[in-house]
Amino acid sequence: MVAKTSLRARLLNGQTGDPALLIQLRWQGRAVLIDLGRIDRTPAPVLFPIEAVFVSHTHMDHFMGFDQLLRLFLARDTTLRLFGPPGIADCVQGKLAGYTWNLTDEYVFSVDVTEIGDDTLTHWRFAARDRFARTDLGTTARHGPVVLEDPFFRVEAAALDHKIVSMAYAVIERTHLNVRAGALEAHALRPGPWLNVLKTAVRRGAADDTAIEIAAGDRRPLGTLRDMLLDVTPGQKVAYTVDTLFSPTNAKRIIDLARDADLFYCESPFLDEDIDQATRRYHLTARQAGALARAARAQRLNVFHFSPRYEGRYGMLAAEANAEYLGQESRYGELDRGHAPLP
Ligand SMILES: [Zn+2]
Ligand SMILES: [Zn+2]
Repeated sequence: MVAKTSLRARLLNGQTGDPALLIQLRWQGRAVLIDLGRIDRTPAPVLFPIEAVFVSHTHMDHFMGFDQLLRLFLARDTTLRLFGPPGIADCVQGKLAGYTWNLTDEYVFSVDVTEIGDDTLTHWRFAARDRFARTDLGTTARHGPVVLEDPFFRVEAAALDHKIVSMAYAVIERTHLNVRAGALEAHALRPGPWLNVLKTAVRRGAADDTAIEIAAGDRRPLGTLRDMLLDVTPGQKVAYTVDTLFSPTNAKRIIDLARDADLFYCESPFLDEDIDQATRRYHLTARQAGALARAARAQRLNVFHFSPRYEGRYGMLAAEANAEYLGQESRYGELDRGHAPLP
């Protein structure tokens, strides 16, 4: 089951450097990046497969890599998609305005920016051939948490409070549906377009009694066909949260987004002993990260974005997060029961 998963995630700057989580789609030569801190120490061939970047917010340590990515991609025949909170198009425009673009008319490269609102996605294009002038591509409605649908994965987002919006993300691989070898023959069924109808309905979570027409006049319930024919392997889920206050609203949004994640990357800049500092700066403590991961029933917690004040004792941050995550300590036990965290 694990072997079928195709998402491979890694922090380009480890637990202590600027946030930048590369998620490679194994076997496809494709990748997405969550957050865009400095990336100049990552070899270009590792970055070239990036198709989309999801930025949490534009504090410098999360966005200064934009220039480096732009420099790498400028002469390439490609479009880079960039998602972020409302206002990010202004930040992209501001960065692009800092350079001179008189010799790029032949370039094909463009940056397509999407601002993630509560109910709408707002799109702009900055094309090299137009000297990166900002073009309005209109808005689309946003239904639920999804901000990008791809044939192989989808991306969900949740707006968190960091005194500005800090966007949390989850990359979710699509469920693998394979027709079990020999199953059609065993049930005397003929393959046909109905198999795709069945798979699509299963992926959408349609009810078991949904009728699927497998031949003229022959309709069977989805649940029966699925159990008879399909191997269903859930896709892998990677969730990512940085720079956020530990408030009841934020905690609920993080838990909803990261629920049952295979991998949960959560910021953990401060120790519990510095909780006042963490709260003042709208950040989580390691213990809070652990509590969120436990409440979300994440399979694995990776903490990062450590404050340099703990240099020489970074291990304490991971240890504190893990103790809470594994339930050895449970200051925040009320989260598991679905209640809001205590102030
Ligand atoms: Zn920040
Ligand atoms: Zn930060």
